Amino acid sequence: MSTSPVSIPKFAPDRINVMKPWLGEDEARALAEVVASGWVAQGPKTAAFESAFAAHQGVEHAVATSSCTTALHLALIVAGVKPGDDVIVPSFSFIATANAPTYVGACPVFADVDEATGNVTAETLDRALTVATSAVIVVDQGGTPVDLSPIRRWCDLHGLLLIEDAACAAGSTYGGEPVGRGADVSVWSFHPRKVLTTGEGGMLTTDNEQWARRARTLREHAMGVSAAERHSAIVAPAESYAEVGYNFRMTDLQAAMGLVQLAKLDEMVARRRLLAGKYRTALAGVPGLRLVADPEHGTSNFQSCWVEVLPGYPLGREALLEHLGTLGISARRGIMAAHRQPAYAHVASGGLPVTERLTDATLILPLYHLLTDGDQQRVIDALANPRG
Ligand SMILES: *Cc1c(COP(=O)(O)O)cnc(C)c1O
Repeated sequence: MSTSPVSIPKFAPDRINVMKPWLGEDEARALAEVVASGWVAQGPKTAAFESAFAAHQGVEHAVATSSCTTALHLALIVAGVKPGDDVIVPSFSFIATANAPTYVGACPVFADVDEATGNVTAETLDRALTVATSAVIVVDQGGTPVDLSPIRRWCDLHGLLLIEDAACAAGSTYGGEPVGRGADVSVWSFHPRKVLTTGEGGMLTTDNEQWARRARTLREHAMGVSAAERHSAIVAPAESYAEVGYNFRMTDLQAAMGLVQLAKLDEMVARRRLLAGKYRTALAGVPGLRLVADPEHGTSNFQSCWVEVLPGYPLGREALLEHLGTLGISARRGIMAAHRQPAYAHVASGGLPVTERLTDATLILPLYHLLTDGDQQRVIDALANPRG
């Protein structure tokens, strides 16, 4: 008998995950159609997904990309962020938000966040302003909409570009409208940890036609003629390359899945909000746990339904994660703080107390479309009986 060198993950049939994409027959059929068509790279399905996404979000232009990270990279290029610029970002975000300025030779400057939403505000941004600041990246953290109007006014006052990292926020609203519309350019993620998924994938949205056109070109090697145009022509037109571009393309396989997922988005968000509401009701009677909530200015898709573990709770955050783990419940540590990572040791951050508190004391609860009432009750019981 030989032993396998690869460690096989233990299969726990009753394990509850923090997230699970809602995928089914419709996605499988859409993928099979693309395979049968023979056109699996970027082509007509990607164009259709872009149009559908732009319509859903109420924006002029949508440019599909290989990920949100590559969309953010393109956003900074087309917006004109230059080497030597400072770009204000929340430290309290997935690392990709802080990485993007570095890709264009700029430097991230970390701003603290508001404790209720986990998002930057005009006040926290103002404290991070430098003479070199040219742009701000705001994040709708975990799907909670950022309060954009005061930030927009503050950016206009200082002549700054406003970029929205809406990676988590498809289906969230601000002032009754889809998030992302109030920024100069917004970016989205379709990673399975988000609500709408294409496996990997992203999108850039903007009302600026010139920026959209440049992003579209840059994402495919800055080719003067798109690959879709060249390959659909019998005699391919000659292409030219006006600048150095990238391969940040989405494939039609991903886009076909995206179209199906987009059609389900409103239903997915409604379900997530219902489940978050159940957590809210059930945890109201558990002292020491504070659940993230809709802010006054909008609604969350609850991509990340986090709780802050307060001193009044019998366990600390790490002990609570372990307690849940022993019951087969895979929760997650809350949002990270980029300024604490070795990659950003060179960036001075003048005290980010709320970021540090939230990153140390929050955890993300299991929440996904097919989470059953029984499984959610198991999570609630585990939280309500920390010594049980
Ligand atoms: C997930 C996430 C990203 C990265 O998205 P990818 O599609 O995986 O590149 C960027 N920013 C934020 C805020 C995220 O949560």
